[in-house]
Amino acid sequence: MSATASDLRHDWNLTEVRALFEQPFNDLLFLAQTVHRRHFDANRVQVSTLLSIKTGACPEDCKYCPQSGHYNTGLDKQKLMEVQKVLEAAAEARAIGSTRFCMGAAWKHPSAKDMPYVLKMVEGVKALGLETCMTLGRLTQEQTQALADAGLDYYNHNLDTSPEFYGNIITTRTYSERLQTLAYVREAGMKICSGGILGMGESLDDRAGLLIQLANLPEHPESVPINMLVKVEGTPLAAEEDVDPFDFIRMLAVARIMMPKSHVRLSAGREQMNEQMQALAFMAGANSIFYGEKLLTTGNPQADRDMALFRRLGIKPEKRQDHADEVHQAAIEQALIEQRDSRLFYNAAL
Ligand code: SF4
Repeated sequence: MSATASDLRHDWNLTEVRALFEQPFNDLLFLAQTVHRRHFDANRVQVSTLLSIKTGACPEDCKYCPQSGHYNTGLDKQKLMEVQKVLEAAAEARAIGSTRFCMGAAWKHPSAKDMPYVLKMVEGVKALGLETCMTLGRLTQEQTQALADAGLDYYNHNLDTSPEFYGNIITTRTYSERLQTLAYVREAGMKICSGGILGMGESLDDRAGLLIQLANLPEHPESVPINMLVKVEGTPLAAEEDVDPFDFIRMLAVARIMMPKSHVRLSAGREQMNEQMQALAFMAGANSIFYGEKLLTTGNPQADRDMALFRRLGIKPEKRQDHADEVHQAAIEQALIEQRDSRLFYNAAL
């Protein structure tokens, strides 16, 4: 293992990233796990909840996305949610253990009319003691500053793939516009969540190219979601070939090595992965998940499955960074203990 493998670097090139991808699987995983343990508790995973605050009819043409207005996917469209409803959802997410609440709107960019509502959502969720994250599309510098002033912690803005492949997937915006918004987010002092998708027909060099773009930013994104394409009927990528699961794990491992201090998020597509693959993903250095999609009713089966898997693997939810809410953390851990004692949990001792 190279002595510099765990250093924070911003000068990665294609040759060396290819070499990482081409390592034998076990060597790559060992390196990723070694890097991971230098910077994180290997048995903690950060847990976020995602809520769509405005769904569908998006003017962008991202070929993977069922929310694009360019494709007919039979999706239920929804206008911007009321602030109160968003806050209720955030309170429920908090009650079942999420530490970060991510709000996503299917927009090209937020309008002046919508901004006041969006800002109220940020203020309200923050007041509940949750970390806040939003994804609203392209931002102006003024909008970015207003979000930061309202208390937004993270802005999600994915680069999706390499600059070379980007035009095959999206034609309604450019890579440089994406980078511009990311630069505004940094200037405003917020944290960045940015990653990409595997399974869109990209080459290995495109996967490497995406990671190079992210790792060579002036600061690494604090959160790097790595998504597996969820093929949705009606989108142009519905018939793409499946990604080899080991190639997906390799991507997580290389992301971990290149951005050692970032949270690498096992993101969209996780529901399609079996438990063994998720366990391998955590071993490769993934340490963040969306916890039970639409987990907004008690007894959500996905949330229960997630907690059961954590328990079986001895993983605990990561504590909040500011440690301001020890009581909340204790409540999460108590909930885990209670769930372990219920029949929801597999008991390895039996
Ligand atoms: S901008 Fe977002 S919501 Fe709109 S089509 Fe692209 S991925 Fe979907």
